[in-house]
Amino acid sequence: MFALLLGNMQDGGLPHAGCVCGNCTAARRPDFPPHYVTSLAVVDERQTPPAVYVLDASPDIKHQLHLLAPWLGAHPSQPHRLRQPDGIFLTHGHMGHVDGLAQLGKEAMNVQQLPVYASPVLGELVVENGLWRPWAHQLVLRPLTAAKPITLAPDLTITPHLVPHRDEWGTGTFGFEIRGPHRSLFYVPDIDHWNQWPAAEEILGRVDVAIVDATFYSTTELHRQIAIPHATIPETLQLWQNLPSQLVLTHFNHTNPVLDPTSAARAAVTAAGATIGAVGLRWEL
Ligand SMILES: [Zn+2]
Ligand SMILES: [Zn+2]
Ligand SMILES: [Zn+2]
Repeated sequence: MFALLLGNMQDGGLPHAGCVCGNCTAARRPDFPPHYVTSLAVVDERQTPPAVYVLDASPDIKHQLHLLAPWLGAHPSQPHRLRQPDGIFLTHGHMGHVDGLAQLGKEAMNVQQLPVYASPVLGELVVENGLWRPWAHQLVLRPLTAAKPITLAPDLTITPHLVPHRDEWGTGTFGFEIRGPHRSLFYVPDIDHWNQWPAAEEILGRVDVAIVDATFYSTTELHRQIAIPHATIPETLQLWQNLPSQLVLTHFNHTNPVLDPTSAARAAVTAAGATIGAVGLRWEL
């Protein structure tokens, strides 16, 4: 059993639409490694075929599902296609976390009765989306309740925890606590500010690995920062001075200087003992 990081970028990805900043320009070079929008897979190889769950349906999902080809294997009746995953877990309703669902419809992957785990309000929004109505009945909603574990195997659970994050539709935002027999992970790609989540230190301190929101390095990075709150990387590094879990950063905005391997910001993250999230990072569970 393992977790596999499928992406490390903020919703808009890299390069960003309409952007010619240094990071986006570098990302358009042909030899630039893939930086997909944040997503995490949980794979249980003991099952036949392996059970494959995807956390967040990112706009890059078509590439990310291909990373899972060794475990998805062939579609049962169409050998030139991949089998669909066994379930998709949604953290919240912002575009980088749900837009990949469109790739699952009739015009693309054409999934059949795919379990989608989401808050009840988000689940309803997804299936009532008028544009997806022709095929949304193929999504089987599995409503999530905060702090109630979903048992994927007797020794593998995913527990949603509500975290503070701007909430335009009243859907809530979840971080996911993943527990296997040997290791536990917490995946929280979006959070407004750590001090708005009273349980942060307790929950993040009890897991082995925490994969967390690192959208911005500084509050001056984006002129819209006031309207788009996220804990900055230095604030997160400071919190982790008191936490025993391994810190892994994800959900980088295209403006984030840590995307440049030669930057002082990247050196500061590494010196603090944190890991820059990258496509393909893997943790045994
Ligand atoms: Zn996001
Ligand atoms: Zn850019
Ligand atoms: Zn968000």
